[in-house]
Amino acid sequence: MYLSKFSLEFYRNYPSLDVDFSRDVNIFLGQNAQGKTNLLESIYFLGLTRSHRTSNDKELIEFDADFARIKGHLHQSQIELDLEVRVTPKGKIAYINHLEQAKLSNYIGKMTAILFSPEDLNLIKGSPAIRRRFMDLEFGQISAEYLYFISQYRQVLKQKNNYLKQLALNKTKDLVFLEVLSDQLAGLGAEIVHYRIKLINELNTRSKLAHEQISGTKEELELKYSATGIEVDESMSVENLYQNLLSAYETNQSKEIKSGTTLVGPHRDDLIFSINQQNAHLYGSQGQQRTVVLSIKLAEVQLIHQITGEYPILLLDDVMSELDVTRQTALLNYIHGKTQTFITTTDLAGISWEIIQKPKIFKIANGVLAPFE
Ligand code: ATP
Ligand code: MG
Repeated sequence: MYLSKFSLEFYRNYPSLDVDFSRDVNIFLGQNAQGKTNLLESIYFLGLTRSHRTSNDKELIEFDADFARIKGHLHQSQIELDLEVRVTPKGKIAYINHLEQAKLSNYIGKMTAILFSPEDLNLIKGSPAIRRRFMDLEFGQISAEYLYFISQYRQVLKQKNNYLKQLALNKTKDLVFLEVLSDQLAGLGAEIVHYRIKLINELNTRSKLAHEQISGTKEELELKYSATGIEVDESMSVENLYQNLLSAYETNQSKEIKSGTTLVGPHRDDLIFSINQQNAHLYGSQGQQRTVVLSIKLAEVQLIHQITGEYPILLLDDVMSELDVTRQTALLNYIHGKTQTFITTTDLAGISWEIIQKPKIFKIANGVLAPFE
């Protein structure tokens, strides 16, 4: 899939922008703080209705404005769609072909996008919350059902935690209602864990191969889902996982009441990356970690293609200069001709030009785009 026409109104440092993208490679060239990342972020936001760098949508609205709007004309292999997201301080609304969508979950997934930036190293270096957010964002693009389970799970989790706090404060003693909530949570949690294990397994196979090609080494990358408080493996059905979660809630009931919070479930789970059986979080070098993240992103591109039949749009923020020529070449060969790609850079010298054919280059200065001659 690819975006042709794209426009912004009052998005961060873009009061107004109208642009036509190339369906192949687009390069945004500019000095620091001119709006390169903002533009990539806005493209990502058009697809996922979420920013990769903030969960506070208000930040996206230009300082002096009261709304922001992003529009794009999307070409899928069979159809074309006009997409639009409007952000106000009160919330956001998405439109497909000018029709307001009652639910964002109807909208997400029409335009898929994978973004890779230097901050993605936090996927390995950072806390488990970052890896859970990664799974939710990426798997939500692939499956509307996954998105649905996540949003239901969050609601019930909140209810259960509130109730645990009341029990902790002795405001109630009724354990039956707690068990009802735990049962609901186990049902939704089992669906989420089941999805995650399945998709992580798919990503694992693909990222291993990508990693081999990019690193040019025999180091073996391995991704593994790690659940807290329950045993999990690939062969388990949703029913098995449900039973396991349920019994974990029973076992931990008094602990949960004491701490006033739910201790087991996918909101506590993690994802482990290892290189030659060593945890990359603890032992990986900076360069190894970067290669791991890149491999996972490329694996996602393939997975999205396999599941949806369309290649996602690829957004590469400031990553070319961080990769050596071998890795750049491997990356570009991998995606060549398949995905519409957006690359930001402060310096054209950092890019291996032999591989990129006829890129469309835009110069960005202070939120204004101009063709690069
Ligand atoms: P670098 O090369 O350093 O990564 P960049 O070109 O990617 O730079 P961006 O992060 O896209 O830079 O843009 C940063 C600029 O956008 C900053 O000058 C910041 O003040 C401005 N900015 C961020 N949010 C808003 C907003 N809501 N309204 C107006 N301007 C904003
Ligand atoms: Mg930037």
